[in-house]
Order: sequence, then C-alpha cells, then structure tokens
Amino acid sequence: MILDLKSLFAQDRAVLPIVYELDLRAFEWMGETPLREPIRVVGSVENRASVVTLTLRCAVAYTAACDRCGAETTNRYEVPLTRTLTMQRAGAEDAADDLLELPDAQLDLDALCTEEIVLNLPRKHLCREDCRGLCPVCGRNRNTDPCHCVPDGGDERFAVLRVLRDAADGNETGNC
Ligand SMILES: [Zn+2]
Ligand SMILES: [Zn+2]
Repeated sequence: MILDLKSLFAQDRAVLPIVYELDLRAFEWMGETPLREPIRVVGSVENRASVVTLTLRCAVAYTAACDRCGAETTNRYEVPLTRTLTMQRAGAEDAADDLLELPDAQLDLDALCTEEIVLNLPRKHLCREDCRGLCPVCGRNRNTDPCHCVPDGGDERFAVLRVLRDAADGNETGNC
C-alpha cells in the first residue's frame, strides 16, 4: 500500500489512521514460509507543528518447527515501528535512524513494514520456553513421551540413578 501524504504534510494537526493487513504468506525464511497469517498493521501518521510522525504496530504470527523438538508452533508478537517523516533531504550529519525521507510524500507502507518485520524475526523459536527437545538416544519427544535414556558419555552417577529408577519402575521401563 502506498500512502500519499502531501495533504498531511501541508496541514498541522492532521491525523491519518492506518489499519490494514499485509500479506507475507509467500515470504520464505530458513526453508519455511513462517508468516502464514495476514499481518495486521495498526497505527497512524500525525502532523504536529509540521513534525510528521508515523507510529505503527505490526501483529505477527510466526509459524515454524520448534528449534528443539520440531513440533510446529505459532508464536505471536508485535513489532513496533516509529519514524519521523520528512519531505526534505536531510544532510548526512543529521540523518537519524528513525528519519525517513519522502521527497514526493509517497510512503510505501508494505516495503517499510516488511523490512521491519524481517529485521525482527525471532532468533530462536520454541514451542515453550522450557521445551525439553528430543532425546538424543531414542529420538522421543521428551515433552510428551519421557524416556529413561542416558546419553553416551553421561555422568556415571546418573547411570546409577537410572538403575535405581528402572528397578522402581518395574517392567514398564523402556530401554531405548
Ligand atoms: Zn519444542
Ligand atoms: Zn530416550
């Protein structure tokens, strides 16, 4: 979506509300297409004493395999975005990070939101904070199907505990 902000730049106290949906379903990342739901973008552009500010929140649903156990998981979070918009070309010395130059007053909202969302994609993706992952020995999902495996090179003291626990468990102990 391209916003034409010419009249907003010309009018003090003008406010333009923004509510729209950004479709990034085709976006590929780490071999997946994690942005399968429309991204809801809500905010406004506001002119206050000729300072024009864009304030947005992008509601993202990120779906991919859990880094530890592989279960498909959707995590939801918001990406905030704030920019000061100017029609003037700022010199290099006063070009702040959040300053966006729009010489023709045209704002490409899709490009701006997409860039911000991609910069803020999660570095880790877990089905839950304490996901126990897969057993390195038998491959079971330790969240749902705990096993009694002792990883190779594991501490011998745990092997002793395991024998004790196996004895207590009786026959139903799975030897993975
Ligand atoms: Zn997990
Ligand atoms: Zn196991």
